[in-house]
Amino acid sequence: YDLRNEDLKELQELGQGNLGSVKKVEHTPSGKIMALKIVHTDAKPSVQKQILRELQVMHDCHSDYIISFYGAFLADSNICICMEFMDKGSLDRIYKKNGPIDIDIVGKVALAALEGITYLYDVHRIIHRDIKPSNILCNSAGQIKICDFGVSGQLLNSIAESFVGTTTYMSPERIQGAHYTVKSDVWSLGISLVELALGRFPFLDSSSDSDLSDNPEGHPQGKRKSKSKGGRLQDGGMSVLELFQQIVNEPAPRLKPEGRFPRVAQEFMDYCLFKDPQVRWAPNDLLKHKWIDHARTETIDLEAWTSTF
Ligand code: ADP
Ligand code: MG
Repeated sequence: YDLRNEDLKELQELGQGNLGSVKKVEHTPSGKIMALKIVHTDAKPSVQKQILRELQVMHDCHSDYIISFYGAFLADSNICICMEFMDKGSLDRIYKKNGPIDIDIVGKVALAALEGITYLYDVHRIIHRDIKPSNILCNSAGQIKICDFGVSGQLLNSIAESFVGTTTYMSPERIQGAHYTVKSDVWSLGISLVELALGRFPFLDSSSDSDLSDNPEGHPQGKRKSKSKGGRLQDGGMSVLELFQQIVNEPAPRLKPEGRFPRVAQEFMDYCLFKDPQVRWAPNDLLKHKWIDHARTETIDLEAWTSTF
């Protein structure tokens, strides 16, 4: 596609992130429906051009588990990224609307995300860096794919300052300043999978009276918020600092209560959530875990599942 801003017709706003917004658009010359991500930057023109060059790597990323890339361009001082539109949206919205996701479907999510992470790393040496339920998308064909991976070092640099609020999936070693490795993605995946299965973000406000960690329903004290731009309050109503302290100092979240989930799923999450990255399993090893074997052969109809919302 030869993409130009004037050829894109806005159909619908899909969401706002920390960095900008995402819209459903039609590329009028071809009739192709796309998702357009608009990232605001104050970067110098030379830096913006470098970002565009770096984004071109995405043209070479071809996997059933990775969102397709159609191209990127500059418009005003925005970086515009055109990608595959996923008509059933992101998993955070899906569980917030429909409640906890069935553990066998979470198994399919784990399989797809691990395949995507492994593809990016083994083939392109790309570490995703932002695994979370809003970056795992699905469509009505029953496909599950990951998006928004960190291909452009310059883009990561230029957004670093505004990069608050998505820190909640950060691994203990990252919070403590260690280098990013693919094991940090595994931690973020573990947190995301526990969140989908429980239907809530697994860290809780420890200052609240009741410990709801065994409550299958619950949104802690009704305030399941919040995407505050200042990054002060996170999901569960905690400040970022409290959350960081919990991630670093407290035992990792687990799939609980005992008995509600298959042991093998619980074990898998535990292996993703070892706090020591040396001990934590790598994506390649996790792909050989029994629960993933089970997910591969499990014949749930994901297309039928997506037709329920
Ligand atoms: P975040 O991932 O932090 O929520 P984004 O700006 O990346 O912020 O995306 C905003 C929302 O737009 C996402 O939560 C998701 O629901 C939706 N979205 C993003 N990309 C796509 C896509 N390719 N197809 C459909 N919906 C998308
Ligand atoms: Mg995103």
